[in-house]
Amino acid sequence: MDNPLVQCPFDKAHKVLSHRLPIHIVKCKASYSGPEMEKCMYNATHYVPKGSLQTHYQSCKSFYEFHREVHEKFYEKHNIDENASEAFTEDDKSYYSF
Ligand SMILES: [Zn+2]
Ligand SMILES: [Zn+2]
Repeated sequence: MDNPLVQCPFDKAHKVLSHRLPIHIVKCKASYSGPEMEKCMYNATHYVPKGSLQTHYQSCKSFYEFHREVHEKFYEKHNIDENASEAFTEDDKSYYSF
């Protein structure tokens, strides 16, 4: 069974239930006075020391999932555009055959 406790990014001594982490972070961040932290763009509960976001993204599951979604959307869109441009080419042909 997975341990439902996760470590607070602001204080390693804080262990909170994962579903409580977003609430905990808001409170904890307000009283935090340590080195500057940066928020992960893909998950609001990920905070890493300033300057280490790029390293974080290499192992961030939310980053991976976000980009997988973007790629899927891109390919979907690309397929639609391809069909649209084919139809457009047909129109062009008939136009130029006049
Ligand atoms: Zn905390
Ligand atoms: Zn992250």
